[in-house]
Amino acid sequence: MRMPGKVAIVGGGIGGLAAALALLRHGLDVDVYEQAPELKEVGAGVQISANGTRVLFALGLQEAVERLCWVPKAKEIRLWNTGETWKLFDLGAVSVELYGFPYVMMHRRDLHAILAEGIECLKPQALHLGKRCVAVSQDATSAKLAFADGTAAEAAVVVGADGVHSKVREILFGADAPQFTGCIAWRGVIPMERVPREVSRTCGTNWVGAGGHVVHYPLRRGELMNFVGILERTDWQVESWTVQGSPEELAHDFRGWHPHVHALIRAIDVPYKWALMVRPPMRSWSKGRITLIGDACHPMLPLLAQGAVMALEDALILARCLEAYDDAATVFRHYEAARMARTARAVTGSAENARRFHNPTLAEAEGARAFVTREWQPERVRERYDWLFTYDAAAVPI
Ligand SMILES: Cc1cc2nc3c(=O)[nH]c(=O)nc-3n(C[C@H](O)[C@H](O)[C@H](O)COP(=O)(O)OP(=O)(O)OC[C@H]3O[C@@H](n4cnc5c(N)ncnc54)[C@H](O)[C@@H]3O)c2cc1C
Repeated sequence: MRMPGKVAIVGGGIGGLAAALALLRHGLDVDVYEQAPELKEVGAGVQISANGTRVLFALGLQEAVERLCWVPKAKEIRLWNTGETWKLFDLGAVSVELYGFPYVMMHRRDLHAILAEGIECLKPQALHLGKRCVAVSQDATSAKLAFADGTAAEAAVVVGADGVHSKVREILFGADAPQFTGCIAWRGVIPMERVPREVSRTCGTNWVGAGGHVVHYPLRRGELMNFVGILERTDWQVESWTVQGSPEELAHDFRGWHPHVHALIRAIDVPYKWALMVRPPMRSWSKGRITLIGDACHPMLPLLAQGAVMALEDALILARCLEAYDDAATVFRHYEAARMARTARAVTGSAENARRFHNPTLAEAEGARAFVTREWQPERVRERYDWLFTYDAAAVPI
């Protein structure tokens, strides 16, 4: 019953590469068109919860993930100024016991590389670099892509996996209207030998404070430490992975925070900053022979650590739908039915975490203690995360 013809994917990020690998494994022909001249992801970490490793393992990447990841033993909450510590949840063997799959931390570059290698094994030359898509059109028989270098491509189906500034989304549905959240995200990667001994090297740590939070966790077998600092600040509004800031500006943004936070900040050579935007949810992701996945259709704040994981789930579900149904309208109807409510809930959950992690009550230790004890009690934590971690993209009905 599979959809006949080739699939063209615009964007070789986590979602686009995962979709290509899933499609090839489901017996469909695919080409990926990525604007960057080389596959070189930003230097940053990504947390992949059990629902995401389930997808990566289903794509045949278990050995590669286990070789390159870091498996945290737990996640902890710490108070921004006193450093008081609470357990958020156990991970390591507990994630496998509860959800069947590990919760891992990966360097984005490593994740990209193993997805690309998986594609290369099944279809060498499926990945076309230096191809910035500038136009998409379609008729009754095919969809056509035009690239900035003057070349073109044709396929039965096009998947826009071109991220938060998606060109494909803009062409299908018009320009979007992002709203600035009032938060910026700082990030940096630190060689582990520069991380002070007293900072946890085994857990994922969430420092919470009024108006900001900091997350750090080990990457790449524990050789690196990832740092993300999110702060309410309204004077800078550029949404980009590549804008650099200065260590002084970062240290100033977190003035008054615990010495462990500052020890990490001092160890970052080049911090990058990203203004966090939100977009209203879309009512549909597809038109004719063209659909969207990942940040192109449901960008979310990085406060639930689920944006990339949702893109992985989208990729596998879309591949299953393309294998199960033979016309684009039916494929996309089933794909959207399986994905829209879940991803919308993740978008909402991320925004709620901003209010939780940055709550004004966290300013003073006493109020903070009561707030943390209430908000992070085990039943509430499971309510917030179990529906995410238990999802099986390989088996949910489509
Ligand atoms: C600070 C921060 C921390 C985060 N941490 C986590 C986390 O821990 N866990 C998690 O699950 N998520 C996390 N996320 C979210 C996650 O990064 C995104 O949700 C994820 O990268 C989305 O993947 P994607 O493939 O949809 O888009 P992207 O990764 O943005 O990939 C899009 C690709 O399309 C290409 N492209 C764009 N336009 C064109 C064009 N016109 N033609 C051709 N190619 C094009 C781009 O070059 C890029 O390679 C975080 C986000 C931020 C900002």
